[in-house]
Amino acid sequence: MLITLFPALHGERDLPLGLLYIAQTLIEHGYQVRIVDLNLHVGKNIDLGRISAIRDADLFGFSSYRYTMSADISIAWQVRLINDSPMIWGGWGPTTNPLLYIRYAPADIIIPGVHMQAPRVMLDVVKCIEKRRDISIVKGIVYRDGDIIVDTGLGEIPDRIPPLKWDIISHVDLALEDYIEDGVLLVPILGALASCPKYYESPCIYCSIGRVISEYKITYGTNRFNELMQRLMQFDVDRIIQDMENAIVYFNDVLKDKLKRISFTLVDDAVTPENFLKLYKKLVENGLINEFSFMKFQTRPEYIPKILKNIRREHRSKFIMDVGFEFFSERDLLFTNRGSNPNMLANILRELSEKRVHWTGYVILATPVTTAEDLEKNINLAINIAYNSDLLRCNPYLLEEDTYIPLKYGWKAIEWKCIKIYSEHGQVTVVVPHRPRFFIGNKEIERMIKVIDYYIEKVEKLREKAFQKASKIIAERGEIDLNDSIGTVTRVYSLGELRDSLMKLRKALVEDYISKERHKAF
Ligand code: SF4
Repeated sequence: MLITLFPALHGERDLPLGLLYIAQTLIEHGYQVRIVDLNLHVGKNIDLGRISAIRDADLFGFSSYRYTMSADISIAWQVRLINDSPMIWGGWGPTTNPLLYIRYAPADIIIPGVHMQAPRVMLDVVKCIEKRRDISIVKGIVYRDGDIIVDTGLGEIPDRIPPLKWDIISHVDLALEDYIEDGVLLVPILGALASCPKYYESPCIYCSIGRVISEYKITYGTNRFNELMQRLMQFDVDRIIQDMENAIVYFNDVLKDKLKRISFTLVDDAVTPENFLKLYKKLVENGLINEFSFMKFQTRPEYIPKILKNIRREHRSKFIMDVGFEFFSERDLLFTNRGSNPNMLANILRELSEKRVHWTGYVILATPVTTAEDLEKNINLAINIAYNSDLLRCNPYLLEEDTYIPLKYGWKAIEWKCIKIYSEHGQVTVVVPHRPRFFIGNKEIERMIKVIDYYIEKVEKLREKAFQKASKIIAERGEIDLNDSIGTVTRVYSLGELRDSLMKLRKALVEDYISKERHKAF
């Protein structure tokens, strides 16, 4: 039986880690698996009918996020015209919105779950289809039976994550060379499934994963929740080291001279200082730290001092910390239940700049309660990060992707948006939740827009200056030295990202302003 898997169409050249785990399970049980990563061909006109993994598949698996839903579904319908084998969907989008996919996608079965439930459930589904058994015996799926939607619950979270056998990449026909950029391959390594302690105490208001995990109490039962919590938080350092060592051997062996440097990204929502220390010690002990270029990982700001304390000076350039600062305004920090405060954040920013480590920072410009003063504080945080870090990532506002906001403030607090989906009936428009509305009045919105207009101009001027400086460096040196000039070059992107976010925020504020005026009129 041939199973062909498709990663979500997000446009990035990332090795599809989640699908590799699924492929590994299926291959170990004697199935043939192919992964067709269309992210490698974005912008090209690909004739899907010429891909044998599509023509010959007995079963398809699609991974999707809500934001890639439109593209994923459109591809799936094209695939169905070529081969009408059953289609199974999983990932964030189908987990949080199974009904949307059942309704609009060629989805025969949905496998909900984003904490490694999928490999086992997928295997059960495949066996069931192969043996032509009734699918209702499989736990962990959602499907349509006539007019009824059947939900058989969630699959099991595994008690341990197996080591990844990288050589399965050779079996699934992935064109590995296409994932290399400038001789560097970024290899994802799975850390803990859900390490952020806040998931289990009081998640941030906009944290979809926090909400999914708190719902596990209902799905799996409170009695089992403690056991599952251990599984989710488990940071199995020996398995992580093994995955890294195996990756170095495998990728060097297969890619040979094409691979100049290997780097890792630790897939873990919030690496804690304790977990970092465990990993760092092992990396140093066995010398593995000298065998890769750098390792990226995500963490919370308050963990930074303890993490930095443990990294020896000579190893600082080995790590890129992605720090979720989010807001600098106290009102926004409180509203979102971030658990940090401006003083603490200021100290951490200072420490990061003084220690001259590599880090990237994430900022959200506004929440529903942000005022003009708050916005200015958040913008200045973003500018600070753009100048002191290697890269700023910025969102204009919170996004509604199954957060606590509608639970707490009702669906009236949510703005919906239309997305176009290409289905079997041509293009259809689907309305999906998009972002929380601004709770503030129109006077405050006017003040915020003034602040935004001022900063759009200011940030654009800063960006132009940064561009000139970066062009000079590149012209003089010919290439970028990671240790001293990456910040100068990436600052252009960071400031561009901030400017674009300001523009998006302005648009959203204007939308809400008009809608509030309309309501007044009635
Ligand atoms: S700190 Fe991050 S991962 Fe943890 S609950 Fe908040 S948003 Fe979620």
